[in-house]
Amino acid sequence: MNSIDSLLHETRRFPPAPAFVENAVAGPELAEAAAADRLAFWGDQSRQLLSWSTPFTQTLDWSEAPFAKWFADGRLNVAYNCLDRHVEAGNGDRIALHWEGEPGDSRSITYEELTADVKRAANTFAELGVGHGDRVAIYLPMIPEAVVAMLAVARLGAIHSVVFGGFSADSLRARIDDAEAKLVITADGGWRKGKVFPLKNAVDAALADGASTVEHVLVVRRGENTVEWTEGRDLWWHDTVEEASDEHDAEAFEAENPLFILYTSGTTGKPKGILHTSGGYLTQAAYTHKNVFDLHPETDVYWCTADVGWITGHSYVVYGPLANGATQVIYEGTPDTPHPARWWEVVEKYKVSIFYSAPTAIRSFMKIGRQEPQKYDLSSIRLLGSVGEPINPEAWIWYRDIIGAGAAPIVDTWWQTETGGIMISALPGLTTLKPGSAQVPLPGISVDVLSEDGTPVGNGEGGLLVVTEPWPSMLRGIWGDPERFVETYWSKFPGGDGEPPRYFAGDGARKDEDGDIWLLGRVDDVMNVSGHRLSTAEIESALVSHPWVAESAVVGANDETTGQAVVAFVIVKASQADVATAAEAADVLRAHVAQQIGAIARPRQVFIVTELPKTRSGKIMRRLLRDVAEGREIGDTTTLADTNVMQIITDKLK
Ligand code: ATP
Ligand code: MG
Repeated sequence: MNSIDSLLHETRRFPPAPAFVENAVAGPELAEAAAADRLAFWGDQSRQLLSWSTPFTQTLDWSEAPFAKWFADGRLNVAYNCLDRHVEAGNGDRIALHWEGEPGDSRSITYEELTADVKRAANTFAELGVGHGDRVAIYLPMIPEAVVAMLAVARLGAIHSVVFGGFSADSLRARIDDAEAKLVITADGGWRKGKVFPLKNAVDAALADGASTVEHVLVVRRGENTVEWTEGRDLWWHDTVEEASDEHDAEAFEAENPLFILYTSGTTGKPKGILHTSGGYLTQAAYTHKNVFDLHPETDVYWCTADVGWITGHSYVVYGPLANGATQVIYEGTPDTPHPARWWEVVEKYKVSIFYSAPTAIRSFMKIGRQEPQKYDLSSIRLLGSVGEPINPEAWIWYRDIIGAGAAPIVDTWWQTETGGIMISALPGLTTLKPGSAQVPLPGISVDVLSEDGTPVGNGEGGLLVVTEPWPSMLRGIWGDPERFVETYWSKFPGGDGEPPRYFAGDGARKDEDGDIWLLGRVDDVMNVSGHRLSTAEIESALVSHPWVAESAVVGANDETTGQAVVAFVIVKASQADVATAAEAADVLRAHVAQQIGAIARPRQVFIVTELPKTRSGKIMRRLLRDVAEGREIGDTTTLADTNVMQIITDKLK
């Protein structure tokens, strides 16, 4: 079986509005330039978007594929590019961060202030012995100090490893050990769901045996919860950073100097320490942020809801927006604290014009109902973005109608921790939008859909998503494990005969009749029903198109007659909770899927549940549901956001 059967038909189309096109940042000339000479295009983008202390002369060195070097003989300082140069250009008074704390406290920080804060932090870190190439673990809530810490590490040419504040002491220690971090930056605690969650005590637990590489723990006071103190090791941020000098010259480092290590979400297996470097990464972060989000830095207020613990927080909260001199919002807490419309209150307060979030969040707002966002004035919004999973067409339409006043374009951005920046997305002033499709590779990016034997599939067919040419923000490796890097990403289509390897992303996709790309979910999750390879994304979208359904997850379970059978887990909308008994609802939904995409996809079973297992970045962990569907013991749940969820689901199904 070569390709993935593609069954869903979505025909709604949304061309860009003329008024939007008129002021659009990205016009047709962008694609023309990239098509004319791809490497020259990236060289030009990099020179335009960044400030290089030593200009590069070679754009790409791919002679040791799959180990790439971009802009290798150039030198730059990443933090200088995100800070000082904006101040030098006369934009020091522009707000860089509007920070909103969960309890309602807030701070607005200008570029000039942020630059001074980062210089102080860099001086402090240097005094603590952090220098070029050293690793620093950052384990903080979404507070401005998280951004300051990342940029100060970058300023010194050191390497940060941000560990999401929701991870346990064990996960933190595993990441500290893997990177051999010298310094940990944390907080006493942060706010989440109306309470302070402790962080410093998790660091203490992680380091309790005294056998790690960590020399110092720097602690921001945020939660005001009591903390234990290890004299000599622990230091308060306010006693050190805030007292330090705000004079610090940014040294330039080579373009391939490592910038950060970040572990993947862990949706499918053991997290990998993905390594990104400086010049290429920053080029693509800035390029995509500017063009995909149509950034007008003088007037826009941008908000990406991701935590800095994820790649989206790295590329589209820290590096892309700040390199572009954007004004942005960052928010500490959960979307529903203290009330279900908190995010929309924040949009109204800061007049957010560009809003970037995840399908999981959108579907959870759909579940609650439109009355919540409708309590606030969202008329400032002019562009919406989505990332993390395929966005079901119904969720897309809801997002555009309810959050985007029926008018805002939506950019559905496909990319990964490994790709460092957006790879496939509509350009809002150019592309006629198709709900549910990420659509087109960005100018300068080469993507294709291949069948197992490596030949491109035709239009209307599904297969494996690959990147066929190296790109500036590509991962440079897995920290400490070059073999796993080659094996994981480059061994499926290894090239040979003078042909370089192609990058296999692990996702399934199809090309539609126009050649546009629709993501079908992870290849590991593809189901094989009576010889047909079916995608999770399409069946889930069919379920979500039923008015009762807020969210769904579909898996393939062993089946004696069909090989595998489709098993669906469905969450019903709050307003529809009483429409039918679970058995009636299951029958209706099975029939609905058959009618929407065909009898072959009709679920064998539909389970009505109240929760789905998700990672801490909000992605559905289907492998755990497969365990349920096949009656097995549930596998490793450590990366789940809420480890009780599997219990709730299995209890419900008893
Ligand atoms: P792990 O690799 O550890 O299993 P992960 O793949 O969930 O975790 P990320 O790098 O955060 O970690 O997520 C990238 C993946 O998210 C992509 O490979 C794809 O499956 C999915 N994804 C991201 N954006 C989109 C999108 N716009 N449409 C469809 N899928 C998307
Ligand atoms: Mg992945």
